[in-house]
Amino acid sequence: MTDPINRENDPRWAVLGAYVRDVANRMGLQQWYLTVSRKPPNDTPDPDPEHPTIAATFTCFQSIEATLHFADYFFSAPLDKQRLTVIHELIHVIGGGTLAAWNKIREFTPRQLDEWYITEEERFVDWLSSIIAPSMPLIDWTADADNPPRV
Ligand SMILES: [Zn+2]
Repeated sequence: MTDPINRENDPRWAVLGAYVRDVANRMGLQQWYLTVSRKPPNDTPDPDPEHPTIAATFTCFQSIEATLHFADYFFSAPLDKQRLTVIHELIHVIGGGTLAAWNKIREFTPRQLDEWYITEEERFVDWLSSIIAPSMPLIDWTADADNPPRV
């Protein structure tokens, strides 16, 4: 069961934003400007309800900025899945240029090749995320401005 979140004033957004910043810094992304958007990752119904999109990242290719989107499902996922998801999205920030290049190439490739490339890209990002995850803290949902996360 997904616990819907208030996308306007839910205090979990501040906790998530601080967590993303902390993990990004630990991954060497201190110079990046990161925004945790309150918009969900999909504007349309999820194309694959069996495997819903938990998060998506959009990287600006002319500056060091990226926006991360999280679905309601993220907030009710187990803590280790939340950590893996944040790391996964931050690896997409690093690899944004490769994906941008592919987005140009895909215009000239068969759909099957596009699906294969994207599947392999996601598999690579997931494997790398699982290697990094044990060295990163879990999100502390009890943290807030008066009670900063334990690090
Ligand atoms: Zn991904």
